[in-house]
Amino acid sequence: MVIHLNKDIQLHEAKEIADELKAILIEKDPIILVTPSKLRELPKHLQSKVSLAVAVPNDIQLASRKYLDEVRPIKFSNFELGGNSNSSVMISGPCSVETEAQIEEAAQFCVQQGVKVLRAGCYKPRTSPYSFQGLGLEGLKLLAKMREKYGLHIITEVRDSSHIEEVIEYVDIVQIGAKAMYDQGILRRCGKARKPILLKRGFGSTLQEFVQAAEFILSGGNEQVILCERGIRTFETNTRFTLDLCGVAFLKEHTNLPIILDPSHAMGYAYGVADLSRACLAMGVEGLLIESHPRPKEAWSDAAQQLDFNQFAELMASLKPVANAVGRQLV
Ligand code: PEP
Ligand code: MN
Repeated sequence: MVIHLNKDIQLHEAKEIADELKAILIEKDPIILVTPSKLRELPKHLQSKVSLAVAVPNDIQLASRKYLDEVRPIKFSNFELGGNSNSSVMISGPCSVETEAQIEEAAQFCVQQGVKVLRAGCYKPRTSPYSFQGLGLEGLKLLAKMREKYGLHIITEVRDSSHIEEVIEYVDIVQIGAKAMYDQGILRRCGKARKPILLKRGFGSTLQEFVQAAEFILSGGNEQVILCERGIRTFETNTRFTLDLCGVAFLKEHTNLPIILDPSHAMGYAYGVADLSRACLAMGVEGLLIESHPRPKEAWSDAAQQLDFNQFAELMASLKPVANAVGRQLV
């Protein structure tokens, strides 16, 4: 149950009520309590102390449409996601920051294409320890330099808790990767961050587990959570993963969080990314995350799936009418 306490309830009393209900307390105005979802009715003696009490059938609580029937707004200096905006944002850039020259080419291309958010990994969660692991802090500094120079927002992935502080400090959006979706240290720390968090779905996770991971961040007090579907593992091996668009329909219907889709990691091959991107945008989501690289063949990670600049420019032009057809605007 999600409970809003009356505004005149002081923190010490709120803490006593939270203890009684075994609830998480979120220090907002009004103070919010979230109890285990098995609590269906508020005890009688507490009824005069609350302004809102919403019982939900499972632990999709703060993210639930039953609690908040809108897409939560996330504001950036030059655009907004969710709320009343109808904006779909394009996030693009290479899989990894490799060199200053490479990320600068990518940043300049983003500006030329009207892309406002530059993405690139600095801490790569590679499947093999012998693959390129990312430039670390040096990469973060290069991304920050691109933000300064070109006025782009930047997003990068946090791989583990050893570098979470620096990622939160440097970026505009923190990405939690598919492999880190279950890392409760990362989720809880992001719950205390004052920056938007893009949470990717683990490729072996159910939708319930995915949204419950988002609940860790929300219940920590951070309301700026974006869900990212990036493909799940199925029996199919001809594509890298299977993009779960049925799952996206479920998330739109049942959750109040903005949704960004990542067809690049789902497909795993550049040839399918443009068609998938159009299909994704047609679902009326808050954005796309597409990997692009000045020279994909030479990329240090995810070479097969990154679009070259011509492919990306062609895709970008084709997406605008798709966005408009579903009542949205590509930003
Ligand atoms: C990435 O965005 O480059 C990445 C590693 O994605 P995922 O966590 O979805 O595999
Ligand atoms: Mn990648």
